[in-house]
Amino acid sequence: MTDTRGLLIVLSGPSGVGKGTVRAAIFKDNPLGYLYSISATTRQMREGEVNGKDYHFITRESFEELIQHDALLEYAEYVGNYYGTPMANIERNLAAGYDVFLEIEVQGALKVREKVNQEDAVFIFLAPPNLTELEGRLVERGTDNEAVIYERMQKAREEIDMMQYYDYVVVNDTVSKAVDKINAIIQSEHLKVERVVDKINSEIHNYLQKGNE
Ligand code: 5GP
Repeated sequence: MTDTRGLLIVLSGPSGVGKGTVRAAIFKDNPLGYLYSISATTRQMREGEVNGKDYHFITRESFEELIQHDALLEYAEYVGNYYGTPMANIERNLAAGYDVFLEIEVQGALKVREKVNQEDAVFIFLAPPNLTELEGRLVERGTDNEAVIYERMQKAREEIDMMQYYDYVVVNDTVSKAVDKINAIIQSEHLKVERVVDKINSEIHNYLQKGNE
């Protein structure tokens, strides 16, 4: 593995923890040039969302076609809707050296963990400072009714147990600190010996070859 290959970055964690906000803050400046993988979903578009930017909003039939054609890296059914990561371009972008960024729920993240080469990917769990705060954020967001919030909270408990399958945990106490930590994790991942050793060896090899000529 050389440093020229990109990393698959999987940001996950309970719904309402602030993944979307943290991801938006990362992509506002995006100094490290990540490519965002736009998911497909069957849920209704929310106010302010843009089709093809926030999600590809598609019908259940179209989504099921994607499943049948094996066109998704992973997908999950979540609170009555499908969400999935289109496979197209991911491998090509990684091979071209781009870091590809996924923001997905936990079931999907675990499927990606099983599917991809572990050297290619880094799994980051965004955790709430505490569960009461998580509930507060869901209520404040005002997009879900009480029953849906209860379901999301139940799910959050199960999801927090899944932390053990990740490489890193970032507590979302403030968005800017979470963003800084995530960028720091990715920068450090790029500096791991196994990611740089081939590149440095080949540079040394080329240098010594030149000396022999
Ligand atoms: P929301 O409806 O609030 O936009 O998203 C609900 C949940 O689905 C969030 O936890 C979000 O991270 C997750 N999600 C978004 N896209 C994908 C995807 O492609 N795959 C999976 N498994 N989850 C996704």
